[in-house]
Amino acid sequence: MILLVCAAELITAQTQPTRFDILRGAYGADRANNDLLYYHLDIRVDPAKKYISGKNTIRFKMLQDANRIQLDLHKALNIDKILLGTAELKYSRDEGAVFVDFPDTLRTGRTYSVDFYYSGNPVEVGRFGGMAFHKDPQGRPWIYTACEGTGASLWWPNKDQWRDEVESMKISISIPEDLVDVSNGRFMGKTVLGDGYTRWDWLVQYPINNYDVSLNIGKYVHYADRLNDLPLDFYALPEDLDKAKTQFAQARGMLEAYQHYFGEYPFRKDGYKLIEVPYSGMEHQSAVTYGNHFANGYLNRDWTKVGISPRFDFIIIHESAHEWFGNAVTAADQSDMWIHEAWATYLESLYVEFRWGKEDAIKYLNGYKSKLHNRYPIVQERGINREPRDDDQYFKGALFLNTLRSVVGDDRKWFELIRGYYQHFKYKNILTEDVIAYFNEHSGMNLTPIFNEYLRHAALPKLELKAESGKLSYRWQAEEPGFAMPIRIGTRIITPTANWQTTDKEFQVPTDLYLIEVVKE
Ligand SMILES: [Zn+2]
Repeated sequence: MILLVCAAELITAQTQPTRFDILRGAYGADRANNDLLYYHLDIRVDPAKKYISGKNTIRFKMLQDANRIQLDLHKALNIDKILLGTAELKYSRDEGAVFVDFPDTLRTGRTYSVDFYYSGNPVEVGRFGGMAFHKDPQGRPWIYTACEGTGASLWWPNKDQWRDEVESMKISISIPEDLVDVSNGRFMGKTVLGDGYTRWDWLVQYPINNYDVSLNIGKYVHYADRLNDLPLDFYALPEDLDKAKTQFAQARGMLEAYQHYFGEYPFRKDGYKLIEVPYSGMEHQSAVTYGNHFANGYLNRDWTKVGISPRFDFIIIHESAHEWFGNAVTAADQSDMWIHEAWATYLESLYVEFRWGKEDAIKYLNGYKSKLHNRYPIVQERGINREPRDDDQYFKGALFLNTLRSVVGDDRKWFELIRGYYQHFKYKNILTEDVIAYFNEHSGMNLTPIFNEYLRHAALPKLELKAESGKLSYRWQAEEPGFAMPIRIGTRIITPTANWQTTDKEFQVPTDLYLIEVVKE
């Protein structure tokens, strides 16, 4: 995801979590008793009535004996029936939660499948629209979903949380026959239904988080390309095809850069798709959406204001980075969303480094300093449907990773570490503690106080300097106990602590390599 509204709008008030938030955010017993295996979402979309109807088949394995599971569906949508085989199940609704009751105990280790039928008019909400029934500039239907934050249960029933993912998914979207649907995964074909509708079938062959599941319905035209054996598919409105062919060519260089640092594109069997949409963009797995006006920078602006952003299309580079961080490596709770956003932002700089070298990458990243707030810790409270409170998870998070690179102090080792980290957690859902444990183990350093200082406290660490009679004294003022981040100055390394140390050699702190505040007395 990227942000296109001013940061002030994004600051969620630090209010007590509502009943809705607790039901959505908690991984309670009725969620934890099962493990998702598979969804088949099969719906019909009526553009004229802004109406959807159909079912989601939900297959799961029981981890404990139980008679009840928790699913989610937005209150605006009706539940038509929930079936186990042919037997209709009882359920109760509470805010966005749907508790499904089974007459016979579901047994540990066994696999079950329910068909959840629903219908209604989904509401258009949230930062990107949730599910939006728009028209393109020519007045034709242009319908899309983008529901990160709000949650996928805004438009379809599922186990709507970040901890558990299905292993694979089929998506069948029936629409009027003159339109095209592009969803996630591999296109399996379309079937003319004989009543003016056509069903488009897509198969996702990897784990997928709920908010990535998407439909994009419009008068799309399609063209295809390949990068070695990876299928690349591009979709644009007919009048934008030429512009798309020019701009979307950047996808190749993006893939080459990220594959260089992290390894093979994670969803090879599903291919890589880029789809024109009317909003800025979203990282929908293997079906990245694009609304950056076929121009470089971000919405035609120099995004980090240091002259580097205009060299590439910010949306292609940022949203596609999420295929590695966000979609392949996924946070297990929204509280830890920096695992998506700090990394995707950092990957922008790796793209710059791959194309134009390290100096430009560092310059690009430091351009983000103007966007920092340092008001709230990046990692938020877990289990209450709460994401980080502002965009520090992006820019401060990326500058923190750049700082970590300087602490590791050896680029070869750094690139090994981040590639290993990605490979280790690929297709897994993790928390900040998992990231820290990996970096500690594989760097041979105790990086915990450094991670904590940047992620669990609001303020930046301050390096206090005091010059007195030809000597220089220095110490850290930081919130995390035991914070003693070493600073490399040329060939020297100083290791300030909370206590004053004195040296007789002057030094200049390289603040483009370390995100710190330097305070001179
Ligand atoms: Zn993002």
